[in-house]
Formats: sequence, structure tokens, C-alpha cells
Amino acid sequence: MEYLPLFFDLRGRPILVVGGDAVAARRIDLLLRAGAAVRVVAEAVTPEIEALASAGRIQLELRSFATSDVAGCVAVFGAGAETRAAEVAAAGRAANVPVNIVDRPDLSTFIMPAIVDRDPVIVAVSSGGAAPVLARRVRARIEALLPARLGALARFARRFRAAARDVLASTAQRRRFWERVFESPVADAVLAGNEAAAQAQMVRLLNHTARPEAGVVYLVGAGPGDPDLLTVRAVQLMQQADVVLYDELIGPEILDRVRRDADRFYVGKSKGRHSLSQDELNALMLREARAGRRVLRLKGGDPFVFGRGGEEADFLRGHGIEVVAVPGITAAVGALAAAGIPLTHRDHASAVTFLTGHTRPGDLEIDWASLARGDRTLVVYMGLSNAGDIAGRLRAAGLAAHTPVAVVQNGTRPDQRVSTGTLDELGTLAAAHAGLGPALLVIGDVAAYAVPEHSENGRAVSWQK
Ligand code: SAH
Repeated sequence: MEYLPLFFDLRGRPILVVGGDAVAARRIDLLLRAGAAVRVVAEAVTPEIEALASAGRIQLELRSFATSDVAGCVAVFGAGAETRAAEVAAAGRAANVPVNIVDRPDLSTFIMPAIVDRDPVIVAVSSGGAAPVLARRVRARIEALLPARLGALARFARRFRAAARDVLASTAQRRRFWERVFESPVADAVLAGNEAAAQAQMVRLLNHTARPEAGVVYLVGAGPGDPDLLTVRAVQLMQQADVVLYDELIGPEILDRVRRDADRFYVGKSKGRHSLSQDELNALMLREARAGRRVLRLKGGDPFVFGRGGEEADFLRGHGIEVVAVPGITAAVGALAAAGIPLTHRDHASAVTFLTGHTRPGDLEIDWASLARGDRTLVVYMGLSNAGDIAGRLRAAGLAAHTPVAVVQNGTRPDQRVSTGTLDELGTLAAAHAGLGPALLVIGDVAAYAVPEHSENGRAVSWQK
């Protein structure tokens, strides 16, 4: 970050403006809106500035700039053709007074953002001086997005801050309360200009909220990896969570969208990192939820497809915790789309089966005969290391050796890789993908649709025959 955005309280503070042209006049106007005590030093000024001086709203000195002018100011602005920009900048720097010269970021120690003013809500946009026109366009888009009466809503909320603090003990409770307020009809009423109705509703809401809140666990699917494939609901909950538990399928691009001050726990199983047992993980979710927090259990794909979501929900509900499940795009749906493989096809597959290639003694038996009929698509999760064995069982149950197969690895991610071949090559194909990221085995005629040209969002697809 080249510049740190800050909001300064300038009320009653001395500010020097050097220069008296139209640009200086706009700066002065802005500074007066912020309540600054403005002193202008210029050899000539616009009638507008002249009028401000006669009205006693600014102090005006019609003369050329002197280095000693910067003394005691909290900031200096240089504007106007007559301004000896470098001299003003040097005087500011020497006195450690922040200085801004119009259109000269090279001389300035701070720059002015493009502003959306919904006082007290202010949005400041900057391109770091690189492209002021672009910053203004961004500002225009934000301007269009924000309701005109947003400032009124902020002032309304300010009136209830003390009351909310009295009723709600913890910061987390207060944050949740305000989130509810801003999503509620109270906010709509204020934005519509009906503050009397909003006031009455607000009092009811405060009374109603006084009792302690129970925590909740959101079991949320984060999709196959591409952050654009998160659901809107997932993003909303990520923005509201107090604590997030995530595993190895959740990449940094997705984690970035979680509320910044949420506590984060890595609970994955990747090599070399300490990981929790399922019991420890359950206990952690239970403890956090009982503390009244909003717990986000973020899982790759869909929480209920090979994600132990069912077991976790059972455990939590058994302990009286509210569980809300939010579906995600499961790997088979997301990764196959990205590889150009349809799951079903009128000519090739009238059914789809998702199965796990990772079974332990005591797991349910897979009925290979029913899977080997050649009329369906099989998608195997966690199947890389057992691919040869899986192919062997399907062959033994009667599936043809030349049945098309594909391996889709890191589907929807920038490092997506796809290989294709036939059933008798599956073990060899899979071995080439070992240790390079999550992968699916696709078995069935549709696998032949993985096309080398296919490059969704520019992603490369490798081709083996
Ligand atoms: N709940 C997840 C699956 C978890 S099991 C879901 O619905 O997708 C983990 C397995 O999912 C991995 O071993 C791999 O087989 C598959 N997987 C997850 N993300 C993937 C991706 N981006 N590309 C290919 N396979 C993926």
C-alpha cells in the first residue's frame, strides 16, 4: 500500500492554503466543510475566495508565500499557478507539516482522495496518484450505489449507540445487533425518511435483544476452489462470522473474504501441519457456539458431499446447538464443468454416481457390479491412490477396458490439470497426478468430452491419449 487512508478531525485546527485560483477555492470549500480554521496566502484570489474573507470565514493575506507561514499549521495545501510549489513543499517537509500540492504527488506528503460524502459516512477513493480519473470513476460508481440518506442512517444509529451499549454487554453482541438493525425494516424506514416509525421499531428491537444470544454453527460449502464460485450466502456468512474453522481445501483467495477480525482455526489434514481429530474439532465448535459466537465451518465443495457435514451437524444438534447448512458447488460439479465434461449426457450417461475411493475397514461395501454397467458416469473423490485398484474392480465386474476416463486435478483453480485415457490406463494416469492437489477420477463415456482446447477462464487443460 503506497498510501494509508486516514480521516482527520480538522475542526478548529489551523490549515494553510497557498494559492488563490479556482482549484484553491475548491480545496478551501472542502476544508471549511470539515470545520478547519483556514488561512490563505496568495498574491491574487478569485472573487469567491475574496467573498469568504469578507464574510470572516477565512483569514486572507494577499502577498507571496514565505517559508515561515507553515509554522503551527496542521497541514499545508499548495494550489494555483502562482504557487511556488517546490518551495511550499520544501517548507512543509522541513517543518514536518503534512503538505499537499495539487497535481504533484511527487512533491506531496499526502494526497487527496476522491470523496463520496454522505456525512458522517465518507468514502475516500484513491489511485495513489496513478490515475485520478480512474479514482473518480470508481467514486461515481460507489456514489450510485449508496442511498442518498445513508448519512441520516448513520446519525440515527449514533443516537442509539449508548442505549445499545447499556443493553448489550459484549462487543460481539453489539456487532450482531447492529448488523441486524442495518438489514431490518428500521434501516429501510430511515432511508425512506420515516424516522418516527424507525425510532419506535428501534426501541422494540433493543428491548427484545436484551436477552443473551445463543451461538450457531454454519456448515458452509466453499465450492471447488475458484472464489467466484462461492455462493452469495456463503460470502454473507463469511463476512459475519466470529470464528472460522477451515481445512486444506480452502485456499487463501477464499479465506481472504472472511471478516478480518474473525478468529481462524486451521483444522485440515495436510502433511506437516498440526491437525485436530474429529472429536477435537467437534469440541471446538461446541465450545465456541456455547460462548454465543457465530461459528463458520467452511468446507471445500459442499458440506454434505464427503465432507463429514452430516456427522458434525448430528453432533452439534445433539448438544442443542443450532446448525444451518449452506450448500456449495461440489467438486464433481465444479471441476467437471471447468474441464468441459458433462456429468450426464442423453447419448452416454443416464445416471451419475459420486463415490469415495478412500475406504477404511468397516465402511459400507461398494456394489461394483451395479457401477460397471456402462450406462452411467462415475466420479470418484479421494481416489488417486487407489485408482488402479478401482479400475481393476470395475474391470472384474464387467466394465470395458476401453471405457473413457479422466483425472481432473485442482479443478477450477489456476493450476487445474486434466488427463484422459481409458479404464485400463487409469492407475498410470492417476500416478502422474499424485501429490499435486485434490483430484477426481471420472469414469464413463462423458470423460471423452474433456477437450484439450477447453480453457475456462484461460486455464490450461493438458491432453493425454
Ligand atoms: N466436500 C467436498 C469433498 C471433500 S473430499 C466437495 O463437495 O467437493 C476431498 C476430495 O474432493 C478430494 O480428494 C478430491 O477428490 C475432491 N476435490 C475437492 N476439490 C477439488 C478440486 N478443486 N478439483 C478436483 N477434486 C477436488
